[in-house]
Amino acid sequence: MQPRNTWPDILITSLLIALPILLLGWATGQFWPTVAFLLGAALAWNIANLMWLETWLRRGGRAEPPDVRGLWGVIFDHLYRRRKRHENRVHRLRQLLERYRESARAMPDAVVILNDDLRIEWVNDMACQLLGLHWPRDEGQRITHLLRHPEFLTFMERARESLARVTVPCPLDGERQLEMRMLPYGDAQYLLLARDTTHLHRLEVMRRDFIANVSHELRTPLTVLYGVTESLEDELGEQPQLTRSVQMLREQSERMKLLVDDLLLLSRLETGETTGPQDWFNPYPMLNKLIEEARLLSGSEAHQIELQADPELEFRGNPDELRSACANLLFNAVKYTPGGTPITLRWRRDPDGARLIVEDSGPGIASHHLGRLTERFYRVDAGRTQSRGGTGLGLAIVKHVLARHDGHLAIESQVGQGSRFTCLFPLSRTRHAEAPDRSSQADPAGA
Ligand code: ADP
Repeated sequence: MQPRNTWPDILITSLLIALPILLLGWATGQFWPTVAFLLGAALAWNIANLMWLETWLRRGGRAEPPDVRGLWGVIFDHLYRRRKRHENRVHRLRQLLERYRESARAMPDAVVILNDDLRIEWVNDMACQLLGLHWPRDEGQRITHLLRHPEFLTFMERARESLARVTVPCPLDGERQLEMRMLPYGDAQYLLLARDTTHLHRLEVMRRDFIANVSHELRTPLTVLYGVTESLEDELGEQPQLTRSVQMLREQSERMKLLVDDLLLLSRLETGETTGPQDWFNPYPMLNKLIEEARLLSGSEAHQIELQADPELEFRGNPDELRSACANLLFNAVKYTPGGTPITLRWRRDPDGARLIVEDSGPGIASHHLGRLTERFYRVDAGRTQSRGGTGLGLAIVKHVLARHDGHLAIESQVGQGSRFTCLFPLSRTRHAEAPDRSSQADPAGA
């Protein structure tokens, strides 16, 4: 509520006191001495009040203010009320902060508040348990002096810019895995969150091992089955009824073999088990070969397959993996577009990176599928995919290959217009054959 304006009261009271005194002075012929007396008294009154105010403020302004009347009383009142309001606000904020801290303390994840210099400002109990920090002993310490795992140090160097996440072993128990994240918080502060992901990590390893083992175990019997059906087909020759059944058996065992091969490749890519070293090579001959294979696959459908590649542009990576990614994209373009469709494979360097592009003018893919295409076994049209011999793993393989080469896949497509699959690699992964010394320097012209 707005305080009442007290000026009229003060003026009336002052006049009621001063007027009779002035009249008395005038009547007794002592007008000017009376005026001087009144002014002196007012000055003394103001000086005395200023002194009270200074003493009251010096003592913190928390005690009740002096009981003064008039304008000074109003000033003391205002100051006192303002002080009270401020104290109440501070009290409320403290309570709020305490409540936040209590909820952060109760969180099942480790929470560390860091300042801009990565020094610890506060930690919760879980941070002490998971990260081995001590509170309040470690207050003000740099977190990078206390947690020394190399991956964590690299993460902290970059975390303020990219705010990514990292998984590192628990400093107190190397068997456990912690996932850490950094978030900007408050005024130039950071929130470091860590949670125990040992369970998830173990499940993930079990899942990968299971797929790898099952695929591996299936591979030998399938190869035998496939071989037997091939010889059976040769032997049965003239018996059309039986030949048809054996042919179906061969086709299905071939599909299963492809599936197992793709699963094995995918699990090898996931576990980081390389199929060979990453080195400089020129992809141009390999791209030419792939074009020939794509034409063979197209056969009588006669797609118009064209290569537009920089014959000098070298790449640092694993040739088999790049071949596999490129083959998947190119063969998809053949499989999922009608005969005669133009398909172009491009390999070039642009100012922002190297690009491997497979573009077709086929039926395209509806936009709601695009985000999910790289998921395992995701198919736009399951029936059509199977009839074209797809395993549903092709684009998942492409995605993993690109991740292992610091690249990423961009998919653009419009129904009725066609699709463009672009693999984008950083410039540092390419160089021109004639200038190997300038290999890792960014060459904006790409020439
Ligand atoms: P698959 O190994 O079965 O071909 P992919 O993961 O390679 O599986 O592809 C996933 C799905 O994406 C396919 O089922 C297909 O429907 C769609 N697709 C892939 N490439 C193209 C393309 N060039 N044109 C239209 N659809 C495509």
